[in-house]
Amino acid sequence: MMSKITEKIFKGEKHYITSNFGDRNTIDINGTTTPAFHNGTDYGTDGKKIAQYALEYGTIVDTGTDKAGAKYVVVNYPRLNVNMAHYHLDSIRVKKNQVVDNNTIIGYTGKTGLATGVHLHLSIYDLNKKQYVDPEVYAKTYNEDVNNYKVGDKVIVNGTLYSNSYGGKAGKTLTNYEGTITIINIKGTKPYHIDKLGWVSKESISTNNKFTTYTVVKGDTLNSIAKKFNTTWQLIYEDNKDVIGNNPNLIKPGQVLKIK
Ligand SMILES: [Zn+2]
Repeated sequence: MMSKITEKIFKGEKHYITSNFGDRNTIDINGTTTPAFHNGTDYGTDGKKIAQYALEYGTIVDTGTDKAGAKYVVVNYPRLNVNMAHYHLDSIRVKKNQVVDNNTIIGYTGKTGLATGVHLHLSIYDLNKKQYVDPEVYAKTYNEDVNNYKVGDKVIVNGTLYSNSYGGKAGKTLTNYEGTITIINIKGTKPYHIDKLGWVSKESISTNNKFTTYTVVKGDTLNSIAKKFNTTWQLIYEDNKDVIGNNPNLIKPGQVLKIK
């Protein structure tokens, strides 16, 4: 296992450190001398041009090609207040201002620019400290965002809606409301916009993780399923009206039910 950060960037694909952060001997590559201070860590990938993913919810703040020809992407992570730069990419798959999450491929590992082999040069600029930090040291204190909500996530809302610009229902209090996150403004005190109705706080939402799912098979009734899960057919029906429709006695094989 490498660091928590690079395991996420490479989604577990093999990689290893080829050059550490900090002072190092300069080398000449095609007549250009590399900097004596290495502002990031280099990770080799056995020469493979594997995908690099964004770490978590963030925004692309820059992409381009540096003077030496290295293709790069810079991602801002608002929760962490850092900018992470990925250099020497073979190809770039994101655009400036694009919102990304841990399933977004930002580019493929390469050796563009000042590089002797295929690798990722990863630098982390701490916007609080206003300096580069050692990615391997930083990774030791990095905690994954456990409430890693994304736009499009289905959530359960218990809380009061705050003002919005869609003419929604600001001021209304929602109880066990099943909605979808339509916008995220991570810096706001009410960061999640639900169904274009209004903004709610992180504490007001939870995921559907408390549900397990069950796929109906031939011969099932709501009652027989309820017995399997130690619940009642009425509760299952309540949570699945949108799937089952008006008649709780009519369920069909293949229907996926949420069970609490
Ligand atoms: Zn480097």
